[in-house]
Amino acid sequence: METTLENKVSDSGSRAGSPAIQVENIHHFYGKRAALNGVSFTVNTGEIFALLGPNGSGKTTLFRILSTLMLPASGRALLGGFDAAIHPDEVRRRIGVVFQAQSADIKLTAAENLWHQGHLYGLRGAELKKRIAEMLGRVALADRANERVETFSGGMQRRVELAKGLMHRPSVLLLDEPTTGLDPGARRDLWQYLHELRSQERVSIIVTTHLMEEAERCDRLAILSAGKVVALGTPAELRSEIGGDVIVLETENADSLGVRLEQRFGGNATVLDGKVRMERREGHRFVTDIVEAFPGEIQSISVSKPTLEDVFIDRTGHRFWTEETQEEEKQKK
Ligand code: ADP
Repeated sequence: METTLENKVSDSGSRAGSPAIQVENIHHFYGKRAALNGVSFTVNTGEIFALLGPNGSGKTTLFRILSTLMLPASGRALLGGFDAAIHPDEVRRRIGVVFQAQSADIKLTAAENLWHQGHLYGLRGAELKKRIAEMLGRVALADRANERVETFSGGMQRRVELAKGLMHRPSVLLLDEPTTGLDPGARRDLWQYLHELRSQERVSIIVTTHLMEEAERCDRLAILSAGKVVALGTPAELRSEIGGDVIVLETENADSLGVRLEQRFGGNATVLDGKVRMERREGHRFVTDIVEAFPGEIQSISVSKPTLEDVFIDRTGHRFWTEETQEEEKQKK
């Protein structure tokens, strides 16, 4: 059985013609609570794909299923054409996983950490040495190879994790919130390495994130909300699905103004955080019409190009950021 499988495997490590990752109608429950509710998407070879969602949307659950740590209640996750539930060993050989929690031993040097990791994958001797040097070079840590990881900055420690995940040359890299706790400079660096990996080695990369600006850096993304994919596409495609500009109005009585705006101009007005929100083509022209139609009622008005957060609001009717996630972000700063 295994030999037959191997025979069909192409040079890139995938079964011929298979996308890097195929997620088919996955459901998962904790007790009665549904964490994933029919999730499907495909990631192509050499693509950086983001799973963007607020806390509790199901990212970690999906990540654990993709990394073969958990079986879904129903549906399938295929990596390189191999079902993670049926052929977990085949899948593990092809994936590199970087978890949020630190896995490097900080008392060891960067090179020693990679040496242990390489050993786990059966690398030995000269080949292992060569691979360690190559991976440390890839994440720009060659000159720090023999220093203990505990002396490294947060960004450098994360790069050690990345190098560990790459030691066995996986064709798919899974990264769970890879830039959590990193300063903006270290975030930028890490993204640069990911882009290089994608373009120079055609590694397919899945990144879970709750940060809009990270999802913007990916080739495509799925936005998750309450265990469902509410949007799927390139960042530009998703933004362009919003009908034009986003207009936000502050007024004394948002609910009442929302209803009257719809009556007068058509379209859809939603009230969020006590403000009225509308999507409109050529929003700046619409501003004068609104102010003239409701004299003295508008306290402030803003027109902006849609962001991924607007896509989320458009699809779910509520904000991406909860007070809880905002608080977390503040604490990180
Ligand atoms: P995210 O990673 O996007 O924050 P999770 O996959 O961790 O989302 O969680 C999805 C849902 O499943 C949430 O409602 C969460 O409370 C619930 N959940 C996650 N892990 C467990 C668990 N071990 N036991 C019970 N419920 C869980």
